[in-house]
Amino acid sequence: MQNSERRRFNLGIKWENPWHPSWLPASLRDTLSNRYHSRDFNFARSEYLRTRVLFVGMAFTLLAPLWILVDYLLLPLELVAEVALGRFALMLVLFGVLYSAWKNENHLNRMRNTLAALLLAPAVFYAALVLTHGGQMSSLVGYSFIPLLVVAFLSVFPLTIIESLGIGLLVLLVQLLALSITGQMKTAYGWQDLWLLVTILGISLWANHSQVSTLMRLYRQASMDSLTGLLNRGILLQQLNELCRQRDAQIEEGEEPSPICLLMFDLDRFKKINDTYGHSVGDQVLQVFAQILRSELRKNDLIARYGGEEFMAALPGTGKADARNIAERIRLQCEKSTVIAHDGEQVTFTTSIGITQVRDNESLDAALLRVDNRLYAAKNQGRNRYIDADLS
Ligand code: GH3
Ligand code: MG
Ligand code: MG
Repeated sequence: MQNSERRRFNLGIKWENPWHPSWLPASLRDTLSNRYHSRDFNFARSEYLRTRVLFVGMAFTLLAPLWILVDYLLLPLELVAEVALGRFALMLVLFGVLYSAWKNENHLNRMRNTLAALLLAPAVFYAALVLTHGGQMSSLVGYSFIPLLVVAFLSVFPLTIIESLGIGLLVLLVQLLALSITGQMKTAYGWQDLWLLVTILGISLWANHSQVSTLMRLYRQASMDSLTGLLNRGILLQQLNELCRQRDAQIEEGEEPSPICLLMFDLDRFKKINDTYGHSVGDQVLQVFAQILRSELRKNDLIARYGGEEFMAALPGTGKADARNIAERIRLQCEKSTVIAHDGEQVTFTTSIGITQVRDNESLDAALLRVDNRLYAAKNQGRNRYIDADLS
């Protein structure tokens, strides 16, 4: 069980990490990068990003051509047509962004790339204008605001500081390029633009930090079982449904689907522990059992408290043979573990385990029913054992 101190805490943030920069304050470590974020928090964040990318993307896609009307009123006529061409190109890129956001549900990396494309497309459009019409920038009324707007929009998204800073620095580069081409680099106007951009970037980074840390706190509260620190049942089923959906997609595309094994645990004669030693000792047994699960499972496994003294682990990428070994290791760890009761007595406990692998083209409910049946077969056969649905 000492091992568990080195394992991760599969909620929002990993428990410990060998790369953990201990000099960083904990709140900054949570929001600096997603290196310390758990798989389930990444799922949740990609959903938040997606909703906002779709919303902002639609606004940008509509405004890109509609703004031509404003250009018509403000720009010299000879520029309007050329800028309009650029605006149509921008609109096409933004359609691509919307399509990508629509398709890539629950893919954090793809969603981050999509978001970078959404914000960098207007910056590239601005860079193209500067390169082609650098000498006439003073006639391009309103266009010098584009880099500032892009950097301000960073604050709308729950980005980590490194993600936001990456996009912000690229926009800053575009602005430096623009200032050097228009010869404003060393003028008071140039310094003013840079100062404004850097200030807005700083405010956006602060907003990103606040958003991600609030999101993480709320996510932990909503997804965590407070006694054991494991996932709760609702979030486990949500994540498991997503894993099964990805697996079905692999099957549809003719790929070899990666296996998902389910382990369901129920502590044996737990009521007796409560009745004999009191509820607080029962609670301690539940906490020790949760530590055993954490220490024996991997960082990508989903571990949840399923009910009172029932627990569930979903093991993506793990086949049945490995799942049986893991179940046996957990069973043995329980046999070896003790909790000290109030009178100093050593309380021991055991667990029964049902195992199954999700089958091709079956619903998650069918797999859950099977693993539940196996667990109760393990109970009926004497407890303190595992039963694999496919062996019996
Ligand atoms: P079996 O081997 O058949 O599983 O027997 P059991 O006594 O474990 O089964 P049963 O389902 O009858 O008992 C479960 C008990 O778990 C009943 C309930 O009081 C207790 N329990 C549920 N949640 C908690 C909790 O959060 N803390 C404590 N201490 N006990 C709990
Ligand atoms: Mg029970
Ligand atoms: Mg029980």
